Amino acid sequence: MSVAENLDHIHTDIRTAAEDAQRDADDVTLVAVSKKQPPERIEEALEAGHKVFGENRVQEAYEHWEALKKTHDDLVLHLIGPLQSNKAADAVALFDVIETIDREKIAKTVAKEMAKQGRDLPCFIQVNTGEEEQKSGVVPARLKEFYDYCYYECGLKIIGLMCIPPIDEPPALHFSLLKKYAEQLGLSKLSMGMSADYEAAIKLGATHIRVGTGIFGERE
Ligand SMILES: *Cc1c(COP(=O)(O)O)cnc(C)c1O
Repeated sequence: MSVAENLDHIHTDIRTAAEDAQRDADDVTLVAVSKKQPPERIEEALEAGHKVFGENRVQEAYEHWEALKKTHDDLVLHLIGPLQSNKAADAVALFDVIETIDREKIAKTVAKEMAKQGRDLPCFIQVNTGEEEQKSGVVPARLKEFYDYCYYECGLKIIGLMCIPPIDEPPALHFSLLKKYAEQLGLSKLSMGMSADYEAAIKLGATHIRVGTGIFGERE
């Protein structure tokens, strides 16, 4: 299947899942995850009219998108991977949405860079819903305190929450948790669901699904 066919297929799934959940399919944004994909496939997605992409590494995102951003001024790039402070300036300059705010130091650094560059990017807080040792994200017990820090201390425009469920647990449990946490904070955006589980995520309220292999095929 071509990238264009995969995109069509996923848009159909989005409509069906949204209908089932009595939601508006227009409230679900498909973030096409282009990490580790060759330029030809990215080009195919652009030719099919797709505009919203996700990358998990700043350096690779520059390789993929720096030139394309100049010729496509309506692209929307989401950072969906962990951010280091020393890459914050580059991230703020390239990306349009940062989904992985997860600790005080990075919140502060990103906020400073945005002020410096005059860019006020919407951000998500990444939540470690599975409380996994090795995983990024703020643990649920600290979420309210961390949100307050981001919002009141840093002035970050936090629009929602993002999670990556543990691989060995039913994702629906984590999607429900994320939705509950967002409601408690009065946040309306939920980035959850990947190639294997985006339909379940939409049924549980996802506003942003992050799909890589389902669009582009296996990564290099
Ligand atoms: C790679 C990645 C995805 C996409 O995963 P697929 O299974 O290829 O759809 C989604 N979210 C994050 C954070 C990722 O790193």
